Amino acid sequence: MTEPTRDSDTIEPPAGGTTHFGNRTVEAVEKEGLVRQVFDRVASRYDLMNDLMSGGLHRLWKDAMVAWLSPPRRRPWSVIDVAGGTGDVAFRVLDRAPGAHVTVLDINQEMLDVGQMRAGKRSGGEAGRVAFLQGDAQTLPFEDASFDAYTIAFGIRNVTRIEDALSEARRVLKPGGRFLCLEFSQVTAPMLDRVYDFYSFNAIPAMGRLVAGDAESYRYLVESIRRFPNQAAFSTMIEQAGLRRVRHRNLSGGIAAMHSAYKF
Ligand code: SAM
Repeated sequence: MTEPTRDSDTIEPPAGGTTHFGNRTVEAVEKEGLVRQVFDRVASRYDLMNDLMSGGLHRLWKDAMVAWLSPPRRRPWSVIDVAGGTGDVAFRVLDRAPGAHVTVLDINQEMLDVGQMRAGKRSGGEAGRVAFLQGDAQTLPFEDASFDAYTIAFGIRNVTRIEDALSEARRVLKPGGRFLCLEFSQVTAPMLDRVYDFYSFNAIPAMGRLVAGDAESYRYLVESIRRFPNQAAFSTMIEQAGLRRVRHRNLSGGIAAMHSAYKF
């Protein structure tokens, strides 16, 4: 069993061209390819595994995210959902706000293909309200001030240079635009902490092996969760990127947290 670690009170910048890939130290340039391989391998089982691993909780967390986002129901509103994968956040925004247009951007075409297929199966005049686009969170292919909102769910911890992704978020937001991030975070309840560690480092890789035939990818996902900055440290990073009015809300005792901020 890999021991859980969390470096979340300090933000560890990649030193000497290296960074973390789960608990391994790799060259920063290597990480993107490794992350891509993980999501290539898990794409077809990604939605099923999310349900199994979280006991369906991820659905409630994404509901909570879109409820806090609170997209206006009638007027046109443009959202970029970065690392949007198979479209879970995008579809929730579309269901809630008929005036919204969502651009789902992800580095991994396999994940986007699953999302595109799901979009095709949904009924109700959505054509033209959602677009799927391959791209990198660290260099967004959009002009400054393009979007009313920027969302990212369970994506930012996979990015090699989180600072660059945050700075890009600020750049593409219109003045007054909203940033909202949902990510695994630091459990705040002590007993829950132990149960969660045991579950994460034993049950999740085992489930990955059984259901997706791939324990390694799921081990990476768990390790990357533990390496991610805690609530306070991530708030500081968001502020350092120039976003303002940073607030967070914990979900399920801090297993996940949402961070909200604005561009002024
Ligand atoms: N947001 C979706 C959800 O909540 O179901 C997908 C989350 S999935 C855990 C993480 C996603 O981040 C993957 O689809 C992966 O391809 C994407 N990703 C990783 N690095 C990225 C990057 N640098 N730019 C854009 N997407 C990236």
